[in-house]
Amino acid sequence: MLTRETIITRNEYLDEPIVPPRDASDAIAPVAGHGLFDNVLQQFNAAADLIRLDRNVRKILARTKNEIVVNFPVRMDNGDVEVFTGYRVQHNDTLGPFKGGLRFHPDVNLDEVRALAAWMTWKCALVGVPFGGAKGGIQIDPARYSIGERERITRRFAFALGDNIGPEYDIPAPDVNTNAQIMAWFMDTYLSTVPPHQRQNCIHVVTGKPIELGGSAGREKATGQGVAVAVQCWYEDHGLPLRDATFMVQGFGNVGSWAARQLAALGARLVAVEDVTGAVANPSGLDIDALLAYVRTHGGVARFPGGAFADHIMFMNTPADIFVPAAMENQITAETAPWLKARLVAEGANGPTDPAGDAILRARGIGVLPDILANAGGVIVSYFEWLQNKRRESWDLKEVDGQLRRKLIAAYEQVRAKATELKTDWRTAAYVVALSRLEKVYLERGIFP
Ligand code: NAD
Repeated sequence: MLTRETIITRNEYLDEPIVPPRDASDAIAPVAGHGLFDNVLQQFNAAADLIRLDRNVRKILARTKNEIVVNFPVRMDNGDVEVFTGYRVQHNDTLGPFKGGLRFHPDVNLDEVRALAAWMTWKCALVGVPFGGAKGGIQIDPARYSIGERERITRRFAFALGDNIGPEYDIPAPDVNTNAQIMAWFMDTYLSTVPPHQRQNCIHVVTGKPIELGGSAGREKATGQGVAVAVQCWYEDHGLPLRDATFMVQGFGNVGSWAARQLAALGARLVAVEDVTGAVANPSGLDIDALLAYVRTHGGVARFPGGAFADHIMFMNTPADIFVPAAMENQITAETAPWLKARLVAEGANGPTDPAGDAILRARGIGVLPDILANAGGVIVSYFEWLQNKRRESWDLKEVDGQLRRKLIAAYEQVRAKATELKTDWRTAAYVVALSRLEKVYLERGIFP
């Protein structure tokens, strides 16, 4: 028999208790093997335990909704056919259509895409954009293929996904090794499969498109810009000047390079950068424009003449106030977390810190702006792009920048307030805000049938 005290979740609009109290067995056990999705579950369980998340909602959110795996053939330039494997994982669409990037990388696998899809669900819920979470990708090293081959691979992938994608159902965007051009090919292929009279109403099937095709002003820089806004808020909160603060960035692609530019515009100094080709450091500051030009012609930061060579260990040991990981997952671990000299980690990448690394950062008192908050600028402006397409509007950059800032700061303030209220770390607090929103909607809507 439930007493009032033991009821842990109530639907405000019903007088009846919804669920019996949870017990310890509600924690969703990670699967053996310690994959990336296990990291998500550990983060999820920490927050769900703290707020005693409804046990049934917990079961639902701990699993992905749909997992699509497609194998598709593509003709190569030499006439041979290669068969590629592509993924689209749709984690949850309770708050709106599935939304999430497409990644082209040799390490793409189902476990990774599951984790990235779940992080999208939490991120959209946290920042209050009406999307669910998804992610996709192809297991390839795109550098091995010509531009023509990349176009055919993208188009065949879009075709293979078919109706699993759609402007009101599941909306891809750029991620690692994909960009506005890939989105243009993806959109064009999708539009070729819908009746001609519907095509103009469907360009919001992808975001992160080139501006000429309906992309939004400010989308390309949005994720890095969001990182900088979050860092700026954190510095202000701590009464610290960002001017002359030093920072280091891992990954100098879309997110890393834009975060660097935006932080430099706020007066901070980039002292080390690492990408897939290597690392360079300069305690007096790296010239970001020169570095961008160098990367465009040399394909990476290695041997940039404006800095000194650094290997990975030297890079991770760089004395810098802020570390922006903006490359791949699991970079801050039990091994590397003790090396960091930073006072703040601002997670531009998704999942750059594993649970063991996270515990060390906490123990060392290093602040963490978690990925689902710090890199949410991208999906926020993707939402603006989607809205502009639906309304046939075109917002100017000032409007986009202002709205992005407003939404991100609102989410930041909620996370800060929740961390203070629950006396918990910021990652758990961000999850709490997101999960509470999802829980409320589930309890109001109910579970069919
Ligand atoms: P990108 O392809 O533009 O850049 C990736 C960068 O990471 C490149 O500089 C690459 O050289 C570097 N890199 C790859 N492997 C590395 C390694 N092992 N060590 C060091 N550097 C390495 O990708 P991106 O869009 O900038 O995405 C980076 C991260 O940000 C990913 O985790 C992605 O999921 C996340 N993210 C991206 C967006 C977006 O809008 N693009 C939005 C939110 C989150």
